[in-house]
Amino acid sequence: MKHTLQTLPLSNSFAKLPGDFFSQVAPTPLQHETRLIHFNQAAAELLKLDPEIVQSPEFNEIFSGNQPLENAAHIAMGYAGHQFGYFVPQLGDGRAIMLGETTNSKGGKWEIQLKGSGMTPYSRMGDGRAVLRSTIREYLCSEAMHGLGIPTTRALCITGSDDKVYREQVETAAVLTRLAPSHVRFGSLEFFYYRDKHDLLRQLLDYVIEQHYPELQDSDNAYLALLEEVIKRTAKLIAQWQSVGFCHGVMNTDNMSILGLTLDYGPYGFLDSYDPRHICNHSDHHGRYAYDQQPEIGLWNLACLAQTLLPFITEEAAKHALNQYAPLYHHAYQQLMANKLGFEQHDDSIEELLTSLLSQMQLNQTDFTNLFRSLCNVERDNDQPHASLRDMFIDRDSFDHWFKAYRAALQTQAKPDVARQAEMKRINPKFILRNYLAQAAIEKAEQNKDYSEIDTLMQLLQNPFAEHPQFEQYAEPPPEWAGEIAVSCSS
Ligand code: AMP
Ligand code: MG
Repeated sequence: MKHTLQTLPLSNSFAKLPGDFFSQVAPTPLQHETRLIHFNQAAAELLKLDPEIVQSPEFNEIFSGNQPLENAAHIAMGYAGHQFGYFVPQLGDGRAIMLGETTNSKGGKWEIQLKGSGMTPYSRMGDGRAVLRSTIREYLCSEAMHGLGIPTTRALCITGSDDKVYREQVETAAVLTRLAPSHVRFGSLEFFYYRDKHDLLRQLLDYVIEQHYPELQDSDNAYLALLEEVIKRTAKLIAQWQSVGFCHGVMNTDNMSILGLTLDYGPYGFLDSYDPRHICNHSDHHGRYAYDQQPEIGLWNLACLAQTLLPFITEEAAKHALNQYAPLYHHAYQQLMANKLGFEQHDDSIEELLTSLLSQMQLNQTDFTNLFRSLCNVERDNDQPHASLRDMFIDRDSFDHWFKAYRAALQTQAKPDVARQAEMKRINPKFILRNYLAQAAIEKAEQNKDYSEIDTLMQLLQNPFAEHPQFEQYAEPPPEWAGEIAVSCSS
């Protein structure tokens, strides 16, 4: 049975925690008429919401924060965080309000949050709003990540209005309805640890374990077991990011999910040409969050998390757990990259092939996504690479040399062509959310209230491994104008 907005069961377990964890605050209505910008059927399915509800007159009103959803708790969560290496004791949901959580028939629990729904006690200097541009970027990318099989928050819809929002330019307001099993961040724990409120810290940990890691409850030390599990998930998550060329852009501890989800999409980006030093966030002047720094920053952030657990675990246990991160990360990354090349297992000879390929890609500014997708078509008994593959390198001689070694490895170590090619096409996407594609969708939406491009991108990105032959141009590397797109923390 599908729910309507009236029958959607909302429980509010987070609201039952002590008041120190959050503030109760209602969304601030938008002034101008609201409109639906986009609705995500796949996400509605998670909540068992009847897709017909989108036709109801109250839909836009509820998901803009203009009208309350029945039984909503209206909670803004408090958290702290290390931002660019420096501790900030008071952050929190400055522009997000949770309505409650709902459990679907498969037991999946989803918190429903309105992002951009007005000021909260955590807004500091901010206006509590989100602009259409950043909302479209988050909406598209969370679905793109899900399509790639990477853990992430999801999004149900975007609504918007003509309300003005002041950033570098005047823009318009939008509200994203974000979904996640939990929005608790590393910074949520730091909030209490650095205030010496260890009882509250313990309550939050117990809540997270009970709600999201019930299997850890019987461990000798559930807090240590939690740390170990978050380390595992984060290592795997970042290996997945690296394997598709995803750069988060702002890996502050307040943007790190306790569930190992990709969380808070701001100035993110995907690699176009392969450049390990790529910095996607124009506000990140020193490249703290450059693509090749992400694995190391993952560990740095986990060390911040481990620090908050020191009232409950020994320093030795914390260090031991953190020492597992590097091997877990490397194992996951190497395995993914071996699979991307068409091999089942990683070994030294594949490492050599990978290293040599990546260094040639860097020198030749080869497109990361398209190169791996092209390798899917290699025939192991055909010594001529497709021209389109060879053309991705300026230094053809070096590539030919590599290609010979690659084919030899395929002949001895990989499955026959048909099976291998099919498997490679399930791990090497044809479509990623390149900045220029997002930008085109944003411009159409901003200038003409035309949301068709969002629609097209959603179709492609929810299924990025399929060929979609009628959309070939969406797999193209960026056009020249895309070099001018600058994404920063402004959102
Ligand atoms: P972010 O960079 O989006 O992860 O946000 C960092 C912190 O700033 C969080 O506490 C946000 O809630 C807050 N914040 C960001 N933008 C705004 C805004 N427009 N109004 C209020 N708070 C904001
Ligand atoms: Mg954030």
